Amino acid sequence: MRKKIVAGNWKMNKSWPEAMELTKSLSLNSSSFPADVQVIVSPPALYLQGVRSELPETLAIAAQNCSQHESGAYTGEISAGMLKSMGVAYCIIGHSERRQYYGETNEVIREKIDACLKNGVTPIFCCGEILSERNSGEHFNTVSTQVKQALFHLSEEQLALVVIAYEPVWAIGTGVTASNEQAEEMHAFIRSIVAQHYSETIANDISILYGGSVNAANAKELFACPNVDGGLVGGASLKAADFTTIIQAAQ
Ligand code: PEP
Repeated sequence: MRKKIVAGNWKMNKSWPEAMELTKSLSLNSSSFPADVQVIVSPPALYLQGVRSELPETLAIAAQNCSQHESGAYTGEISAGMLKSMGVAYCIIGHSERRQYYGETNEVIREKIDACLKNGVTPIFCCGEILSERNSGEHFNTVSTQVKQALFHLSEEQLALVVIAYEPVWAIGTGVTASNEQAEEMHAFIRSIVAQHYSETIANDISILYGGSVNAANAKELFACPNVDGGLVGGASLKAADFTTIIQAAQ
């Protein structure tokens, strides 16, 4: 059975006191979070340990990125093994901002997925088309290529450990959300290519999150789509009240 998941990506936001204030508010609100929704908080790497220590055990933390390398002379990088050793259960991989600003290719993303799985960290793999690809009808090809190149070398057992996040780039941070129909259509498509390459069972069991301007007002309808298993939330995860409403909408 696939999990419902709501993950908050704080990106490069908040001072340490602000991060602690948000963490404490989420801890206070956590008694109202539905028991069947896995809540994940993804603060900047520097705050991971501090945020972890303030959150109840039922909430998980995610890094926003990791290196594809195991260890060594990679100044400024953090390995998946380091994340695991600090109690970080998840890592966002292949976010469109990493692809766009740091040149991450599908090949590098594939290596990062492998590094996570090798070290027992669950990757939250992001895919999604840019606006011109959507407008020219290329969006299924783009997403299919991203998914296949990053994931389809994995064994069934490995793929079962991955969380997929469909994040149309034109919807990220823009206030323009994919319609429920657009989200459902792409999630069903991703599930269908997983089913073709692996099996219906694997496809049915994998969690596919939607990301792109999810907010307290639109979350319930998006999460009600049959193939949408929750969300990866950026801006709206920076406010405890809004993020709490979004988590509750995933029930
Ligand atoms: C994101 O960055 O993953 C994201 C979905 O951002 P936002 O919710 O702000 O669009």
